[in-house]
Amino acid sequence: MVLNAGSSSIKFAAFGAQDDLPVLLRGQIEGLGVRPRLVISGDAGSRTRDITCASHAEATELILHELGQQLAGRPLAGIGHRVVHGGTRFSAPVRMDGAVLDYLHGLIPLAPLHQPHNLAPIRQLAAARPEVPQIACFDTAFHALQPAIATRFALPRALHEEGVRRYGFHGLSYESVVARLARHAPHLADKRLVIAHLGNGASLCAVHRGQSVASTMGFTALDGLMMGTRSGSLDPGVLLWLMDEKGMDARALEALLYQQSGLLGVSGLSSDMRVLRASEAEPAREAIALFTYRIIREIGSLAAALGGLDALIFTAGIGENDAATRAEVVAGLGWLGLAIDPAANQAGHARISPEGAAGEVWIIPTDEEGMIAAQLWRLLQSA
Ligand code: ADP
Repeated sequence: MVLNAGSSSIKFAAFGAQDDLPVLLRGQIEGLGVRPRLVISGDAGSRTRDITCASHAEATELILHELGQQLAGRPLAGIGHRVVHGGTRFSAPVRMDGAVLDYLHGLIPLAPLHQPHNLAPIRQLAAARPEVPQIACFDTAFHALQPAIATRFALPRALHEEGVRRYGFHGLSYESVVARLARHAPHLADKRLVIAHLGNGASLCAVHRGQSVASTMGFTALDGLMMGTRSGSLDPGVLLWLMDEKGMDARALEALLYQQSGLLGVSGLSSDMRVLRASEAEPAREAIALFTYRIIREIGSLAAALGGLDALIFTAGIGENDAATRAEVVAGLGWLGLAIDPAANQAGHARISPEGAAGEVWIIPTDEEGMIAAQLWRLLQSA
């Protein structure tokens, strides 16, 4: 069983405990805190039903119950969790125990939007199902082998030693895309890639020979691209100005940067790309234009870190579904040799660059849950 718990949703999946990890069930509870719904997806499409559940803990209970019913009492071999931050200690999946949990709890200030939600069900399930092994898989792990220079801020050394450095996030998504690409496009395995994870959270990762060499997210999941409600990179002088001139403290800045900025802040309308695409309002258009502009500029920066670019890969909600964003981004990158085939892009084919283009463009759906299941299974096998 895999759990990917976020602030307003919990995604879950069940896999058969065997080498090819057949998917038994996928679903999510969404709208937590607003109007909770349970979505179960299967081969025949997805079913949604309204549920009553007042908390994340109740939602986790409900998922266990639902799995128990759907899987007719087949025993749980293990539970894998997505955990955003592994800090400096964990660069590989780890089996949970009290000491590990305490360390991960200490990282909450580094990922206040995600880490508390990731950890809560681990504690809960340790109490409810103590006999079932639980492991944590980290979004930071894929970036752990980046060259040292890519991880350093130009701050005094002592701060770096204390852990104030670039970590990078969305690692489970990037790992799953790299694994899928190895099957769909093995000729890219040792090439220079930029993977664009464009969802509510958004980041880019420069990958060379299958490994992360740089990423737009840094110390927290706030850096880099403009996102649904997060600002992305910001002149740090803006923060000093807001503190001095507006009297904002850390909590007020946190709310501004994590929840009120990005597509939502600039459009004044919504953090949801579908809503913005459907709008005629000028601020909505401006929000999309800035989103695209920031992606183009950051891809230029990662291409420099890679010393060139062989392929661009789109993934996650916007990357997989919004043909207009893909077309606009690639239109700004012709100078890097990238081109798009409009028909293939519109149809959402896997490869969307024309035959013979110097730089290839692909759509590869992300599968964070599948990646967690693979890591869980590997760890259970080696135990
Ligand atoms: P999360 O980071 O929460 O997992 P997702 O990867 O699901 O987010 O991405 C959510 C984003 O994807 C939203 O901005 C949503 O509007 C966008 N999105 C989903 N489907 C489409 C679509 N068909 N066209 C355009 N945007 C889409």
